[in-house]
Amino acid sequence: MTLRLYDTKSRELKPVATPNGATSMYCCGPTVYRDAHVGNLRTFLLADLISRALTVSGVAVTLIQNITDVGHMSEDFQEDDKILTQASIEKIDPFEIARKYEANFHKDLARLNIKKAHLYPKASESIEMMQSMIEELIKKDAAYLGIDGSVYFDAHSSKGYGELSRNRLDALKPGHKHETSQDGAKRFHADWALWKAAGNRSQMVWPSPWGIGFPGWHIECSAMSLKLLNSHVDVHVGGIDLRFPHHENERAQSNAITGNESVDIWVHGEHLLFEGRKMSKSSGNVLLLQDVIDRGFDPIALRLCLLENRYRSQMDLTWKSIEAANELLLRWRGKISVWASEEGLNDPVEVDPVEIDPEIQSAIENDIDTPKILLRLRAIEKSDLRNKRSLFMYADQILGLHLDAGVEEKTLTAQMKDLLNVRDIARNEKRWADSDQLRVQLEELGLIIKDTPEGQTWS
Ligand code: AMP
Ligand code: ZN
Repeated sequence: MTLRLYDTKSRELKPVATPNGATSMYCCGPTVYRDAHVGNLRTFLLADLISRALTVSGVAVTLIQNITDVGHMSEDFQEDDKILTQASIEKIDPFEIARKYEANFHKDLARLNIKKAHLYPKASESIEMMQSMIEELIKKDAAYLGIDGSVYFDAHSSKGYGELSRNRLDALKPGHKHETSQDGAKRFHADWALWKAAGNRSQMVWPSPWGIGFPGWHIECSAMSLKLLNSHVDVHVGGIDLRFPHHENERAQSNAITGNESVDIWVHGEHLLFEGRKMSKSSGNVLLLQDVIDRGFDPIALRLCLLENRYRSQMDLTWKSIEAANELLLRWRGKISVWASEEGLNDPVEVDPVEIDPEIQSAIENDIDTPKILLRLRAIEKSDLRNKRSLFMYADQILGLHLDAGVEEKTLTAQMKDLLNVRDIARNEKRWADSDQLRVQLEELGLIIKDTPEGQTWS
């Protein structure tokens, strides 16, 4: 299988390079000053899908995801570090803030069945790595020390600057987000800080050859990706908002260090809206995975709901769509346990291997077209194929929906199973009065029965 992904830089599908059967991946991780919202999780899920698709085809994937716990400034013109701002709001130590939200991040990933990356390096523990890269950039004349004691990257030194975002240097207006500094400290307004002088700041600062200070955000990802992935990244993942300036600047830094194109494919996930609006604290519509769980939904229902949309399209998440995904998940899990018992596969050890479906395989290969995979599964469900379970389980290696969890099946008694079967037959034979009476009996036993065009589901 050859996985092709849409590369933001070349604006076309590119096959993922797998030298010696291996691929390196880097995904920009969370800034741990608050819980990740479902939009952030959509982007982290994208890295998981790519990594699963490669793993299934036998490629050894090394995935690194950083933890930004220093240096990410607020998105307005004030130079406030997001972690320090939150630490003063919660009145606790900034490192405690970082560790608290980092733990929550890992918990959310596990609940969404996102496989663990190989490493989660923290910015605050990679200061030396970043400093040595900054020194190298100065030596290569790609960076300089400003009169304010901060070290800046010289944007003009980067030949291909702007090729990723199509923002040309001569068209950039002064004073864009994230980059303010003392007047005259930078040679050019679009240069950015690699190392920032501490100034009045006393927390989360480190000594350096240029004085006490802290690292910029963009250098963090160059340092971690190149140093931990052997100076080349095959697939780099992040949300679309990071294309500029974060990734454009990362590319300039990394290419200056390696002397060639340091990232092969730049993959960007589109943004997630919630109930038609951008998720933002100020408008009060930030949705967390915990909110989904608190409403009684399986966290994997969110995963399924996100997969109903192509990662490259903007998506509007609604409570209705989460509820529909939850019902579909229950239905499929229920059906898979029924199909397994029909095939005499109740013992998990006996379960036969998955069977490849060419349509699903081609949807995966073609830029991970998850809506197409789900459409195909719906068709398989309605078909009279005899290997439905095996085909579903093939897709589930990528989808990660625990389709064989059989939650309901485990809780069903023999009596419930019998009644469900009898009711299925009654419905097929359009004996509606019998079906209604059986529903009452099942409800008395504590089951909730729902009838859908594809059959009855229970929970
Ligand atoms: P942050 O924790 O803010 O650094 O963001 C972590 C990741 O989530 C980055 O890759 C962002 O691009 C991504 N991201 C932020 N907001 C959204 C959103 N609404 N939908 C999808 N991804 C997002
Ligand atoms: Zn990054």
